[in-house]
Amino acid sequence: MIFTDEHEQFRATVREVIDRHINPFADDWEAAGMFPAHELFPKLGAAGIFGLEYDPADGGQGADHSFTVVYGEEFGRCATGGVAMAVSVQTDMATPSLARFGSPELKERFLRPAIAGTAVAAIAVTEPDAGSDVAGLRTRAVRDGDEWVINGTKLYITNGVQADWLCLLARTSDAGGHRGMSQIVVPTDTPGLEVSRKLDKLGQRSSDTAELSFVDVRVPIEHTIGTIDRGFQQQMEQFQNERLIAAYMATGQMALAVERTAAYARERHTFGRPLLDNQYLAFRLAELSAEVDLLRHYTYACAEQIVHGADLITVTRMASIAKLKAGRLQREVADACMQIHGGIGYMEETWTARYFRDGRLLSIGGGADEIMLRIIADLSGWGRS
Ligand SMILES: Cc1cc2nc3c(=O)[nH]c(=O)nc-3n(C[C@H](O)[C@H](O)[C@H](O)COP(=O)(O)OP(=O)(O)OC[C@H]3O[C@@H](n4cnc5c(N)ncnc54)[C@H](O)[C@@H]3O)c2cc1C
Repeated sequence: MIFTDEHEQFRATVREVIDRHINPFADDWEAAGMFPAHELFPKLGAAGIFGLEYDPADGGQGADHSFTVVYGEEFGRCATGGVAMAVSVQTDMATPSLARFGSPELKERFLRPAIAGTAVAAIAVTEPDAGSDVAGLRTRAVRDGDEWVINGTKLYITNGVQADWLCLLARTSDAGGHRGMSQIVVPTDTPGLEVSRKLDKLGQRSSDTAELSFVDVRVPIEHTIGTIDRGFQQQMEQFQNERLIAAYMATGQMALAVERTAAYARERHTFGRPLLDNQYLAFRLAELSAEVDLLRHYTYACAEQIVHGADLITVTRMASIAKLKAGRLQREVADACMQIHGGIGYMEETWTARYFRDGRLLSIGGGADEIMLRIIADLSGWGRS
């Protein structure tokens, strides 16, 4: 992928926005267990970050997918993974289906404010008994005249405490399995919808994560995104956006982590010489840097496929590989960076501690490593008979 001056200008803008509006406050937000989404998001919206690939008619920038790579890499360098994750929920997890399949009225009411950053969105798929196995979800929307009546529970919902609306995946027929689900926009001020718990997490601490309870929640049938009963298929497509942005962000994060660790190892002396003079450590960092480079170029290949209109199966395979490898490499990089820092690396005052915690999520959230392997095996024809 060749980045033009336009990409580099955009990269500088994103970096400047992060340095001004996020990094100075990261420690406070981590300590508070939440960042103020309704204060921050309009600033990011004004910089065009929430609508990069969306239609200008809906308030978007109309850019191609290569700009999403730049945005992802730069947000990966942000001082708190929690805010980067929350921002990516808004851009690449809760809104792509609405932009792809939503009616003009639904987009006007919910997508436009999400692009402006004046509304906060969340994606509500996971349930207490259905995470990896999305086809096992039980939250049900039953039709009553012109309304859906929704009952159920959603778990681990990022932005769930602060969100103005949810992109909900619910069962809308008795077909069972992956059939008969729909994606529905649910405003969070609808009676019967409650945040039943704000969850406490190992990492990503500046982002809020909620358990949500739905008791006879009524929304109009027109809030259905796309086709009734095709929600599972639409969500599978939306997952590819989620997995790719996670890989782009991780690549930015890992590259920065290796650079910062090399800089530390150059300054830190043991046995009368810089740590980095030990060939073992220099080679370790060189090898990690090479792995990050390989992953980065793989993500560029994914992005090029999307820019050139690749089919969903190609994109799914590539996004799954990128997400799997990013999750595994991130764990290795975070561990090595902490090890090379020694005791100070284990202290909260050093960035390595937060990075170690934040990075661990990538192998679990958005489809665990094992689910990526399952998809790759299935697409290779080595799946279940
Ligand atoms: C911080 C955080 C934020 C999240 N944000 C959101 C969000 O905004 N919206 C949302 O809908 N969800 C969200 N999730 C949920 C996340 O996507 C799920 O946790 C994830 O998909 C795994 O599901 P599970 O936790 O139910 O694990 P389970 O499905 O119970 O799986 C447990 C482990 O078993 C393994 N496993 C499962 N099935 C198989 C198999 N067939 N073969 C081999 N191994 C297997 C996997 O390694 C998995 O990690 C979030 C989770 C976290 C932790």
